[in-house]
This record gives sequence, structure tokens and C-alpha cells, in this order.
Amino acid sequence: MKSSIKENYLRIKETIPDDVTLVAVSKFNPAESILEVYNCGQRVFGESKVQELTGKYAELPKDIQWHFIGHLQTNKVKYIVPFVSLIHSIDSAKLFTEVAKTAAKENKTVDVLLQIHIAEEQTKYGFTPEECFHLLSDGSIKESENIRIRGLMGMATYTDDEVQIRSEFRVLMGLYNRLKESIFKDSDHFDTRSFGMSDDYKIAISEGSDMVRIGSSIFGERNYNA
Ligand SMILES: *Cc1c(COP(=O)(O)O)cnc(C)c1O
Repeated sequence: MKSSIKENYLRIKETIPDDVTLVAVSKFNPAESILEVYNCGQRVFGESKVQELTGKYAELPKDIQWHFIGHLQTNKVKYIVPFVSLIHSIDSAKLFTEVAKTAAKENKTVDVLLQIHIAEEQTKYGFTPEECFHLLSDGSIKESENIRIRGLMGMATYTDDEVQIRSEFRVLMGLYNRLKESIFKDSDHFDTRSFGMSDDYKIAISEGSDMVRIGSSIFGERNYNA
């Protein structure tokens, strides 16, 4: 028999250490499915489409912490800044500036992660490690009272090759440590490594991730056409 969302969630949750944050990635899944997981105590959910996120925010309990994990267009930033808890997917200096500007208008501080492109796939967004380091060093990306850089997000290549996945997470951790020891050495909030999804989160955690984004292992395979 197929296991339920609740059973999946409890099984996954058991494998996640207490000091690692589980983001339940609910994209393409309906509010009822989210509530099943919410009712088990989960409060952090991830979405990758602005319209879907704003709809679910309106419909679901207000103590949910919504994380945005998908590619974000600058013209849509204003719809999520009022309520989003963490944006994982800052992938350009332009987007960073737009989030800061919108947050200033709303009189808010928004927490963000910088998305690092490490995987082989061309389709994935993000900065290369060198680009990220340079944009931070030369001040093109700079924190203000309206935007806080909490850490990095990255995805490994979609492959069965565990050696490759592990080495990619090591590159991400290398950049994180380098930034933590230099540009962010006096920051008390640069502390987040959002690495790992359903197929590779155990490897990610063993390499130092402290935030994992898990969708299909909880909610089942997504129906993108739904
Ligand atoms: C969809 C998605 C996930 C979840 O992927 P699963 O393989 O279903 O766990 C994690 N991170 C990002 C950025 C995603 O877009």
C-alpha cells in the first residue's frame, strides 16, 4: 500500500538531526496536503512560484513560516516581501537590490540566502562561487537594515554518483567557510547552509548542511501538469 503524507513526513523527520531545519517543499501540492504535515507540527514550508505561494499564504494558518525557493523575478518581489520568512534564491545583484528596496518600502528586514550554482546542469540558477565572493567583496551585494544575508543555498547535480554529489557539497561548504571567515566574520546572523533535497539530503547533512528542502519524499511525486 502507498504510504500517506503523514507517514512519509514522520519517517523523514526522524532522520533529520535537531539542529537541522527541515523545509517541507509543498510546491504543486494542495492546501489539504500541507495541513496534514502542519498537523504533525511542521511549520516551515517552501514554495517556488509566487502566485502559488501568495494563494497558500492567504488560505493557510498564519503561523506557517514560508520560504521562497524558486527563481524569483524582480517584478514579483513585492508580492512576497510582506510575509516571506526566508528567500533562498537570490541569484543576481539586481534581485538582491530589488528585495532590499521593496523591504525598505515595507519597513521590514528580509532574510535571504545567496544561491550558488555548482551543479553541472545549465538550467540551474545562481552565482558561481567566485562571482559570489567578488560581488560581496566589491560591495555590489551589501547588507542593509532591510536585508540580511543569512547564508547560502545550493543544489547538487541530479545524479546517482555519490562521490560527485559529495564533492559538490564540499565546494559549497568551502565557500560558506571562506565567507564566514572573511566578509561575514563579524556577522552573528550568517549561519545557514541550505543544501540537500529528497535524494541527497543525508549526504548534504554529513557534509555540513543545516537546512534541507524536502518535497517529493514527503508529498509524493509531483504532478507538474496539475
Ligand atoms: C523542488 C525543490 C526542492 C525539493 O525537491 P525534492 O526532490 O522534491 O525534495 C528543493 N529545492 C528546490 C530549490 C526545489 O525547487
